Amino acid sequence: MSGNITFTMIKPTAISKGYTGKIIDQVIRGGFRIKAMKYTRLSKKEAQRFYAVHKERPFYESLTTFMSSGPIVAAILEKQNAVQAYRDYIGATNPEEAEEGTIRKLYGTSIEANAVHGSDSDENALVESGFFFSERERY
Ligand code: ATP
Ligand code: MG
Repeated sequence: MSGNITFTMIKPTAISKGYTGKIIDQVIRGGFRIKAMKYTRLSKKEAQRFYAVHKERPFYESLTTFMSSGPIVAAILEKQNAVQAYRDYIGATNPEEAEEGTIRKLYGTSIEANAVHGSDSDENALVESGFFFSERERY
């Protein structure tokens, strides 16, 4: 059975370009209920911990530097089949390959600065949510 929560972040470039409000609006219009949300910033060490699954990938160093380069918005989203529904909704990892009208197509600027993160499994959605939010911060 698939779970009903996923975890997302609005990445630093999308924030600095002023897309925060537009992205949150599009998320809500997609039927994702905001269960938790905060404006915060990752240290380099925290970004390395968050992306530890990608440690061996060639983009790990650059990605963790980028993700700690400025503030982000972290959120837990609720919807039926949330993980897959949100991945479909935001579009492909590379904004150039993302479908028209998706968040990554509209607001992504490169494969790294692709506007938003979305969990890739129910298990990781729980781990990533726990990285940022206590139980009492979830509504
Ligand atoms: P996310 O996990 O952020 O939702 P994803 O699951 O679509 O994205 P992953 O393969 O998990 O993609 O990669 C994690 C992140 O690493 C991507 O969102 C992107 O920012 C960055 N990334 C992925 N592939 C590359 C690449 N080839 N070059 C640079 N950065 C990359
Ligand atoms: Mg991923």
